[in-house]
Amino acid sequence: MNAPDRLPDLPPFDNSFAALPDAFYTRLDPQPLPDPYVVGVSDEVAELLGLPRELLGHPQFAELFAGNRRLPGADPLAAVYSGHQFGVWAGQLGDGRAHLLGGLRNAHGHWEIQLKGAGRTPYSRGADGRAVLRSSIREFLCSEAMAGLGIPTTRALCVIGADQPVRREMVETAAVVTRVAPGFVRFGSFEHWAARRRIGELRRLADYVIDTFRPECRTAANPHDALLRDVATRTGELIAHWMAVGFMHGVMNTDNMSILGLTLDYGPFGFMEAFDAGHICNHSDDHGRYSYRNQPHVAQWNLYCLAEAFVPLLGDAEAARAAIDESYGDAFGQTFERLMRAKLGLRDAQPDDEAFIGATFALLQEHRPDYTLFFRALSQLPAAVDAPERAKTDAPLRDQFVDRAACDAWLATWRARLARTPWPDAERQAAMRAANPKYVLRNWLAEVAIRRASAKDFSEVARLLACLRRPYDEQPDNAAYAALPPDWANGLQVSCSS
Ligand code: AMP
Ligand code: MG
Repeated sequence: MNAPDRLPDLPPFDNSFAALPDAFYTRLDPQPLPDPYVVGVSDEVAELLGLPRELLGHPQFAELFAGNRRLPGADPLAAVYSGHQFGVWAGQLGDGRAHLLGGLRNAHGHWEIQLKGAGRTPYSRGADGRAVLRSSIREFLCSEAMAGLGIPTTRALCVIGADQPVRREMVETAAVVTRVAPGFVRFGSFEHWAARRRIGELRRLADYVIDTFRPECRTAANPHDALLRDVATRTGELIAHWMAVGFMHGVMNTDNMSILGLTLDYGPFGFMEAFDAGHICNHSDDHGRYSYRNQPHVAQWNLYCLAEAFVPLLGDAEAARAAIDESYGDAFGQTFERLMRAKLGLRDAQPDDEAFIGATFALLQEHRPDYTLFFRALSQLPAAVDAPERAKTDAPLRDQFVDRAACDAWLATWRARLARTPWPDAERQAAMRAANPKYVLRNWLAEVAIRRASAKDFSEVARLLACLRRPYDEQPDNAAYAALPPDWANGLQVSCSS
């Protein structure tokens, strides 16, 4: 090998998941992808991992993250898990197209690195083990967009593409996303062992999660109970973030729920545009199980599945359910109220905030303005305005309504509420801008980047990524990314196909 191809020194792997017994996974190498090329790279994730700069532009970079060449110290494996899909027990699933390369430990923590789309595994269940470029770009961009928004999520280091055809509804091309997270354990990882009555493995998994990620649970009177409560609390906080930003996951099956409370497995996700609480972002979700408004209930239902799996550890079904009931609702409710108060510019809590937040959602539901633009425009309005000036001053918000009188009436209640907890305009407006993103990953934005990337122009992926890193900043040069979907995007649909 000539000198420029020699890899720079990489941080050492510390493969804690691979140290679990063999029953938890199958060791196997990714399947090579011919002639891979780099579609997008997240510098921020490279830095989190402590990857040397020289690696990013290295001629072997695409080969390494397509899975064609093994990273020194990696110990690739596919993990087994089960789960409930669309409310029905689906039995064994597992990493059907994901290879965990291993973990790195550095000053920023412990990071597992996973290739998604790198070929078949024993858990592929007849499918091809591949992911298409379209869904890989969506996962890459949304992981990083969510991180930019400050929402717990798995991260993505890069997307590697190849011309290899992959058959979905149409023939598309293959890609591999490198995902990065402290861990990829799912609710379904626990359900798997509970369903098989393999209590030794169940306990082993719980202890692994506690010792690796949640050492504070170890000192609790009952560490497994503490872990279950921790998962319920973090899940409640996560869903509150989703609801506040208008994010819809689309496939909240228990195998897509992270035990660490991260947003996991980006598929047919969406961000709310014209507000409708009943919106279903996943075209394959016929009954709207995973609609926007159902997300908090579904998360709780999923937690009950997890609690059921914990019964052998806690010895008592009542106790397992109580761990959810005493954690989830409060975590969700309190976090959601805090986030909505921030979005509305309410400085301190008042007893009737819940009612005011409810009235705000009723306004949105009736008049359907764009969810993101509504709150961003609200962020620039003054707390008080003289009557003759009002229509002009409030125009950025009023113009989003056909029924301007309805907007005016709500604004009057908002201003009355602001007056009860006064906050200088400039300070409040800055705080509101920091709570109300200008930029979210709208489907049409992803679609433009995907179409260009399919034609081998990857510049739009990079530009969009750079914008979504700073979603709360004005970024006048990127203002077009804050726009409503153009007419051509009206029929865009996303489904489970990926
Ligand atoms: P998902 O709906 O993407 O979360 O996937 C559910 C299950 O199907 C998981 O076990 C995936 O690994 C598996 N799966 C999805 N797509 C594929 C594919 N193209 N090849 C192999 N397994 C897949
Ligand atoms: Mg999944």
